Amino acid sequence: MPTETACLQVAVLGHLPRIFSYALPENPERLPLGVRLRVPFGQKSRIGILVGYDHCPPEITLKPIEAVLDTRPLLSESLQQLLNFGAHYYQHPLGDVWAAALPALLRQGRPLPRPAAQAYQLTQPEQTPARPGKLQEALIILLGTANPTTETEVPARLRPVLRQALQNGWVEALALPAPWVTAQPLPYPLNEEQRIAITQLRATQGFTCWLLDGVTGSGKTEVYFETIRPHLEAGRQVLILVPEIGLTPQLLARCQARFGKAAVAALHSAQTDTERLRIWALAAMGHIQLLIGTRSTLFVPMPKLACIVIDEEHDPSFKQHRGWHYSARDMAIQRAKLENIPVILGSATPSLESLYNVQQGRYQSLQLRQRATNAPLPGITIIALRRQYLQGGLSSDLLNACTETLAAGNQVLLFLNRRGYAPAVLCHDCGHVLHCPRCSAALTWHRHQERLRCHHCGYDSRWPQDCPECHSTALITAGQGTEQLEGILRQRFPETPVWRIDRDALPGREAFSAVLEQIHQNQPAILVGTQMLAKGHHFPAVTLVGIVNTDQGLFSADFRAPERLLQMVLQVAGRAGREDRPGRVLLQTHLPHHPLIQRLSEGDYQQAAQLLLEERLQASLPPSTALTLMCAEAHQRAAIQAFLEAAKACAPDSLEISGPQPALLERRAGFERAELWIEAPTRRIMQKALKTWLPCCQQLPEARRVRWFVDVDPQFM
Ligand code: ADP
Ligand code: ZN
Ligand code: ZN
Repeated sequence: MPTETACLQVAVLGHLPRIFSYALPENPERLPLGVRLRVPFGQKSRIGILVGYDHCPPEITLKPIEAVLDTRPLLSESLQQLLNFGAHYYQHPLGDVWAAALPALLRQGRPLPRPAAQAYQLTQPEQTPARPGKLQEALIILLGTANPTTETEVPARLRPVLRQALQNGWVEALALPAPWVTAQPLPYPLNEEQRIAITQLRATQGFTCWLLDGVTGSGKTEVYFETIRPHLEAGRQVLILVPEIGLTPQLLARCQARFGKAAVAALHSAQTDTERLRIWALAAMGHIQLLIGTRSTLFVPMPKLACIVIDEEHDPSFKQHRGWHYSARDMAIQRAKLENIPVILGSATPSLESLYNVQQGRYQSLQLRQRATNAPLPGITIIALRRQYLQGGLSSDLLNACTETLAAGNQVLLFLNRRGYAPAVLCHDCGHVLHCPRCSAALTWHRHQERLRCHHCGYDSRWPQDCPECHSTALITAGQGTEQLEGILRQRFPETPVWRIDRDALPGREAFSAVLEQIHQNQPAILVGTQMLAKGHHFPAVTLVGIVNTDQGLFSADFRAPERLLQMVLQVAGRAGREDRPGRVLLQTHLPHHPLIQRLSEGDYQQAAQLLLEERLQASLPPSTALTLMCAEAHQRAAIQAFLEAAKACAPDSLEISGPQPALLERRAGFERAELWIEAPTRRIMQKALKTWLPCCQQLPEARRVRWFVDVDPQFM
């Protein structure tokens, strides 16, 4: 009997359904798991990760690998475990999970840089070049102001001159031992609630998941800072995750003001790949002690990681909804568990999931009920719209309140979660609504760009000459978007600056920062925006918040819509009156007696959330049960129907399945879409069942005619 041959198990980076086997290299040295390999794959070579050793039947001829790219694993054992867990839990190929976790350049096979954990200073000022160039001058200024300057502080554009300067000898490198942070003293005494929270948090040993449930402006950030300070001062590392790239500059500035610039950095998508890799490498060496970032920052290796903070934990942006559908919040909690360290989830409007986990005893709760500045929380008043004359969607009550607020020298924030000029264009004669030809969605009119746009697939077109149904030329817009609101406000308040804050007006981070700067001049102004405005920002001069269209959130088929509406309104409301000027919130609605609107007007998130949670439990919806969606797309509806039916037929009994039903957006970019709604009593049962079921689905002949994937713990229906 021929014996089996040993082989390497390689997770080739990318969306491939399985792990591949390769021949052991001749070199007798055993390669550690987690190193990158270059392997032959079809006609090409690709990058893969060594994830195991196995045996193959002797008749299989194994290909040899082409190269070993690392001497040491890129990720620690616990991070490798985390990725294995993530691949299993979300039923996603391990190679794609690794690809999501690694910086682009490492994915492409570039070597891991090893920046020296050192600092720089001018050797002798007189030795600097007599007539320095622009970059040299910038370097001299940098080294002169922050002395000595650490690796983290040197911006990417100055690195080539720094290298030269080191060679020429006018800059010298010093070895600096950790800690590199220098904590500034607090400018004010902590209040009682903050002190209690910090004492408890600091006493934590090992893994605990804390929910820091504190109203907007209650000083949660100070609680994070004081909790992590001892770790940083002892040379350890801390990771802070934020839901949105827009929030990083703000938090980074605050962290740097508190802990210095030497070892504090942020990772975000506006950086170049080289810069991202450099920060990654510095964190992996322990030289960046405080790292801030969005979703994928969660996978950065940090050998001395002591604590993870997840700010605005309720935010749905933590869930990745393309490719590997992971929740960065839940994966961060898993990382903390694997590394046996505490994790702090902070929010003024915690998710129902987290509140439920507190009630189940899985998370520990800490509460901050007072605003730190003692500013009262804004009162919320309902404006019933029925039979009111509306000017561009604004009631006279809201307009008058705007006038008063501006006259008093304050700022107004108007929230409308709809981009564009108008969310629909219709025919005045026959009522036909212009739809995207590729999606089951109405087209939005963007007047400034003079385009009709689909917000789902990017399709755009000109304003048509006539109605495609009846050829009438009486096409009109219906409803309001932020662009229209901006125009109306400019007309109505010609003396006042109006800032529109949404993705169309401010496509980049730079533009957003520039506008934020203007707003922070605290002069009278009107801010009009979408949810970009609702998140975590601090606008000291805003004293009036108007929610222009509250009702939008009441009629969604998504069972999370009421929770989202509640969170959104209270978050936006939280922007009002944060400093010495008291704030108020006006909520426009056609349904003043709707129970959710009533609860909103009470402004008490905890109570309202508790009621919503009870409704969820009664309806057997998450978080009391585990939910997974199986989504299929194809050009023909029959193909998706056939696949989903066949999949349903071979499902294990432990799953309760409904569908196939059309997805909320039935057609997108030319693809018909439908889904199965899969429920199990617990996440564990769900995991077990999916593990056996999904491979069967993959084998179905019907699977070849559709694109399909599963979304475990979906956040959007
Ligand atoms: P949150 O993160 O809960 O919204 P922040 O930490 O941003 O709150 O604090 C809100 C404001 O209150 C900030 O301007 C902060 O500087 C201030 N602040 C925080 N703690 C205190 C305190 N103990 N005394 C006075 N002001 C405080
Ligand atoms: Zn018509
Ligand atoms: Zn479309």
